[in-house]
Amino acid sequence: MVTRPLRFAEIVAVGSELLTPFRSDTNSLYLTARLNELGLDVRGKSVVPDDRATVAAAVRAALARADVVVTTGGLGPTDDDVTREAVADVAGVAFEEAPALLAAIEARFARRGIRMPSINARQAQVPQGAVALDNPNGTAPGLWLRIGEQILIALPGPPRELKPMLEVSVLPRLRDLCAGAVLRRRTVKTTGRSESHVEEVAQPIYTTWLQSDPVISTTILAAPGQVELHLSAQGADAAGLDRALDAAVQKLEAALAPAVFSVDGRTLEEVVGTLLLERGFTLSAAESCTAGLFLGALTHVSGSSAWITGGVVAYANHVKVQALDVPAALIAAHGAVSEPVAQAMAAGVRRRLKTDLGVGITGIAGPTGGAEAKPVGTVVLAVSSPGDRNVVQTIRLAGDRATVRRMAVQAALDLIRRVLTDADYN
Ligand code: AMP
Ligand code: MG
Repeated sequence: MVTRPLRFAEIVAVGSELLTPFRSDTNSLYLTARLNELGLDVRGKSVVPDDRATVAAAVRAALARADVVVTTGGLGPTDDDVTREAVADVAGVAFEEAPALLAAIEARFARRGIRMPSINARQAQVPQGAVALDNPNGTAPGLWLRIGEQILIALPGPPRELKPMLEVSVLPRLRDLCAGAVLRRRTVKTTGRSESHVEEVAQPIYTTWLQSDPVISTTILAAPGQVELHLSAQGADAAGLDRALDAAVQKLEAALAPAVFSVDGRTLEEVVGTLLLERGFTLSAAESCTAGLFLGALTHVSGSSAWITGGVVAYANHVKVQALDVPAALIAAHGAVSEPVAQAMAAGVRRRLKTDLGVGITGIAGPTGGAEAKPVGTVVLAVSSPGDRNVVQTIRLAGDRATVRRMAVQAALDLIRRVLTDADYN
């Protein structure tokens, strides 16, 4: 009998094809999501080739660390499918013929009017003590094996076979054994600060949670223009975990404000969309260096037609002049990448498209076009808004052309967020 609730899981993805650049292990992502829902924390996963000794070694190593080990793949009838044998090796048991299983596989072929190839008989071999899991979508049965207090589960590789087997045969069995285990997560998303700057503030806070009850683990994930803190806690008391995580999120939010833009999973463009909707504002944009990426990001949000009116891709100077009424003299005096021009672009698009807010983005994405005064990565953002309240900001971004453009979009979104949440506006 399992005497304590199961807490930790590991996944072993079996398949030589998964070690090539052509196929990726997607099963483990699906498995992780479903195991997490049961409160099981996935602490490791490995991808191994179709080799009996290697699979056995990976499963043994996983069992040394986890309560539950799930393998995927390698249950087929061909010679290179070795998971069944490796499972028997790990458990130290022999195979038993399972006549009912053999009959089921034969019947599956008979339904399609074909004779069962003799190699499929292997799939009716079950390691002693294992429960065979029904596969309604294929011939390979899964395996459920208890080894002492641990559970070893072998599932087929094809996702359309793995998913129903997991839902129907595995999760209900695991649910009982995990009774009481809960895993909860939170995400704090920030923008406008580097990973190191976020870490500097957050680290002294989150390290204290490693000694707290419940223990809260934190990881930092950085992407261009965005740094996320992922918090998780495992325990038995769901309400207690939620309370502890909510308090932890609030602490980080207070310490990192105003860089925190979301604690509920929303993207920055979704947050901006909600703010525009709440205020009943429409928005237009004049984009030079981002050439539509900014409006592209905002219109990625479903329902964005309620707040996005349109925009002008003003790449060439004469478009800035003709389509946005930017005075040619202004460009001549300050250059296209300058605060006066960004402001004129924002004001021009706002006036032409009759929106509440206008955004202007101009910059040098590189790798060419930089100068000493305005190096590559210089981006100027402007927002023109009701009551002629205007904001303009010059930033210096680092990275290749794609990164600079992506970060410029993120910075423009954040500027609008700050404008819309500014105390003066509310
Ligand atoms: P197998 O059960 O090893 O015969 O796997 C059969 C097929 O399932 C493979 O050719 C893959 O297309 C797919 N497959 C196997 N393992 C995975 C995995 N970890 N993630 C996604 N697909 C997989
Ligand atoms: Mg395979």
